Amino acid sequence: MKIGIHCDQSIKDGEGYMEIDKMSPSAGGTTLYRHDRSCKAVPTQTTQVSVHH
Ligand SMILES: [Zn+2]
Repeated sequence: MKIGIHCDQSIKDGEGYMEIDKMSPSAGGTTLYRHDRSCKAVPTQTTQVSVHH
């Protein structure tokens, strides 16, 4: 299973993602993944937006 490093959520089949090669000698070439779409800082509560017409 792939886990997006930004949101810590699983990346499902069919979802767009990018591979990130972590060039760390200690990691031994671990490949990380992130969602292709912007998914970090997902608001958990409705932001109060004041719209003035
Ligand atoms: Zn994500």
